[in-house]
Amino acid sequence: MTSEELFYDRKPAFDRIDEKASNEYAEGYKKFLDEGKTERDAVKAILKMADKAGFKAYERGMELKAGDRIYKVNRNKAIALAVIGNKPIKDGIRLTAAHLDAPRIDIRTVPLYEQDGMAFFKTHYYGGIKKYQWLAIPLELRGVVCVCKDGKTQTVEINIGANENDPKFVITDLLPHLASKQMQQKMVDGIKAEGMNILIASKPSDDEKDCKDKIKLAVIKHLNEKYGMREIDFLSAELSCVPAFNACDVGFDRSMVGAYGHDDRVCSYPAATALMDLNETPDYTSVCLLVDKEEIGSEGVTGMQSKFFDALMEDLCGGLTGECYENSICLSTDVCNAYDPNYADVSEPRNDARLNCGFALMKYSGARGKSGTSDASAEVMATVRNIMECAGVPWQTAQLGRVDQGGGGTVAMYLANRNIDTIDAGVPVLSMHAPFEVISKIDLYSAYLGMGAFYKS
Ligand code: MN
Ligand code: MN
Repeated sequence: MTSEELFYDRKPAFDRIDEKASNEYAEGYKKFLDEGKTERDAVKAILKMADKAGFKAYERGMELKAGDRIYKVNRNKAIALAVIGNKPIKDGIRLTAAHLDAPRIDIRTVPLYEQDGMAFFKTHYYGGIKKYQWLAIPLELRGVVCVCKDGKTQTVEINIGANENDPKFVITDLLPHLASKQMQQKMVDGIKAEGMNILIASKPSDDEKDCKDKIKLAVIKHLNEKYGMREIDFLSAELSCVPAFNACDVGFDRSMVGAYGHDDRVCSYPAATALMDLNETPDYTSVCLLVDKEEIGSEGVTGMQSKFFDALMEDLCGGLTGECYENSICLSTDVCNAYDPNYADVSEPRNDARLNCGFALMKYSGARGKSGTSDASAEVMATVRNIMECAGVPWQTAQLGRVDQGGGGTVAMYLANRNIDTIDAGVPVLSMHAPFEVISKIDLYSAYLGMGAFYKS
């Protein structure tokens, strides 16, 4: 055999992919990114697509037959979609699991205050962010406020900043002229979380001559007129600031997409669309699970550790899930780091995924001595590898940088703990968790093809 046959050589996939189809697919993805900047908005966008693709809301006790397309939404923040297969469900499912939440700046429960001629929102960052990246960029406000009035509650949606003519919000940064002390600090100390207050207004109200917080009054009056809110209603709100710029192409060759929230919508979107695009009934029931709260540990009622998934599977199995789970395979589809020559010293050039080299299969993630990972078995890695090979999907291996450099985890372990064979797979990302992350279009399309092949296998 020749060296070419014997060596593992990671190669860009431009010669193995339909670039026109890949570029077209990226256009749909960009629209999804702009619509779905929070998990609630992403669920809404997925629902719209599912509706068009013939999926129906599942209700407990519903009779299901092969080919049926169903979905179930978990509290507006997570969703499971399924196409019922030809084989009985106890033979196992083909499951993809991705997350819809992304790092962002959440608004606190008592956020509104006025100081020295300006009004601000207090914030609490969500997920692992480098704080300095979120200063001096345009932000939009998204979320819901559950207004309580006369013993009734009403949910009001807020979305300000997404449209071109909308006002934006911002966390101010210190001018370099006065930053000499700040610049000497360790990066982790340079920006304080309690200093990340969002500038929201500067004009005082004309009413109430004696009110000492006239700018705050003007803001709350505006919110009251527009949304029926009083200050106390922030307590029952979920409001977040996310970057107020839309997805766009990156590079002279437009080979990449830059956007907020690729992690993990760059896996959620192909997981969902590959399922919707199944044109034949698969052998195994195919399930796409899109969850919330991954960025803060997968806890909570809408996270991967919630029993929502098990409850749905019990319904589909007509009782116990044991046999179904042990026969199932899961692709935990989440982003991985793309090798970045600008930061080569923390990367492992042989093992890290590369931009444009395809859908990235990751045997394990974790930190230090593989802590916090499920570490897929050789057998299941081989099964998934074969599925990719047989379908001609460009794929590559991935790891999370140099050993002992840091680390991280995905939802994989929570699925593996349920006795489901699980491997990590995803799309390589540059500047992960930054307000503007970058991915390659052919990696995105490879993920779509890979997940389609997996559902069909
Ligand atoms: Mn992720
Ligand atoms: Mn993440």
